[in-house]
Amino acid sequence: KVRVRYAPSPTGYLHIGNTRTALFNWLFARHYNGEFIIRIEDTDTSRNVADGEESQFDNLAWLGLDWDESPRNPGKYGPYRQSERLDIYKKYIDELLARGLAYKSYKTSEELEAEREAQIAAKQAPHYVYEYAGMSDEEITAAQAAAEAKGLPAVVRFRVPVEKTYVWDDLVKGHVSIGAEQVGGDWVIQKADGMPTYNFAVVIDDHLMEISHVLRGDEHVSNTPKQLMIYDAFDWEAPVYGHMTLILNAETGKKLSKRDNNVIAFISQYREMGYLPEAMLNFIVLLGWSPVGEAEIFTTKQLVKMFDPDRLSKSPAKFDNKKLAWVNNQWIKKIDSAVLFDKLLHELITAGYIQAEDLTAEKLQWVRQVLSLHQDGISYTSQIVPLVKPVFFDLTAKADLSEESLAWLAKDYVPELLTNWVAKLEALPIFDSAAIVETIRAVQNEMGIKGRDLWMPIRITSSRVNEGPNLGDVLELLGREATIKNIKEFL
Ligand code: GLU
Repeated sequence: KVRVRYAPSPTGYLHIGNTRTALFNWLFARHYNGEFIIRIEDTDTSRNVADGEESQFDNLAWLGLDWDESPRNPGKYGPYRQSERLDIYKKYIDELLARGLAYKSYKTSEELEAEREAQIAAKQAPHYVYEYAGMSDEEITAAQAAAEAKGLPAVVRFRVPVEKTYVWDDLVKGHVSIGAEQVGGDWVIQKADGMPTYNFAVVIDDHLMEISHVLRGDEHVSNTPKQLMIYDAFDWEAPVYGHMTLILNAETGKKLSKRDNNVIAFISQYREMGYLPEAMLNFIVLLGWSPVGEAEIFTTKQLVKMFDPDRLSKSPAKFDNKKLAWVNNQWIKKIDSAVLFDKLLHELITAGYIQAEDLTAEKLQWVRQVLSLHQDGISYTSQIVPLVKPVFFDLTAKADLSEESLAWLAKDYVPELLTNWVAKLEALPIFDSAAIVETIRAVQNEMGIKGRDLWMPIRITSSRVNEGPNLGDVLELLGREATIKNIKEFL
């Protein structure tokens, strides 16, 4: 039976990287009709943030990644928070101590630091040096009793079988082999405060929760030999591992970080800006996985059906803002138009452009036209707000134009151009899109001004923005009176 888990530490919020981990595990579970479990790894108590767990659940739910067992809906493998499983870990630590596979260690942090510095000076990889080397059992017991008497804190270390090599067939990386000597010596399985370390607790939990597959980030490859040692010590079977490649920031070429300033890191931010959850999943799934064929836009349902771990990529994924915008724009065009209209209307109400109680059928129809003009150009719903601003507000009095726009308007020929154009607009029998575009053509022919020299001053003065959809459509919705008022402001 396929059982997979997403095991966040509530030291932060759901971001692009851990969403990918959650998504791939979820798709794997749903594709194989297995179970998806959420376990909270909260033993690093000093780093936990108060609403970390809450925000993980909220945002996973918003994305539509549902779970079968968790602290909120426990199954028979609970508790699902590591901080509530301490007596379970203690039992297994005691067993390793009794069997001589682990021991209490009293080296102080000063001693460990000095050891480390000496090793670095001698050009050795830093490693822990066994503190009871060459001692008999009696001598060890005596040394430990003396340390206890001095009140020194004890950690529990696992006795590493240095001659062994750990191998596994990774779902992503293929055959991996790491010698035990590479883990840096006997490692800590229980800290001085009695808390188990991650590498120990994760094994106990994955085993007891009958986890069959572990898909996680590349940064855990070096932890895997430590975890395999614990499986061996208890004679348990390890799960199948798959370590997904790094995600690189396409702009910098470096590992993606929550602090990269050209990237929105947290799912809650995307949610607030009005990204669509299915679109976000569609974008994230392409970070390190590729479908067969050329198509790239898929519903979550399609992804569940198609998901194939063989197609997890071996080379680093690239987080690319252009791709993000493209995928999300495809989704804006794809979703049901009534659903989209409601979302966009909501953005306008929130922005204070319109009041819900003012919406007559006629006004609603007009809003619908305005929105349909602009909606194809957006990737997330709040993007509509600045785009339609000129249509909703009389900006003539306090136009705040960009430097670039003002430079266009400062050109010598502009007053004559605008005077000519306004006269044509005023004379139009019907003020509609086609007729408006016709007047601009006429100005072009008469004055011999074309391209950006023609369009920029015209667009900027009439609509107050220097880009947008077909200008005729925009001005038709704005209306003759407002359009002419806008232009005359500059004459
Ligand atoms: N709590 C660990 C993390 O957030 C889980 C790692 C694992 O999947 O084993 O990185």
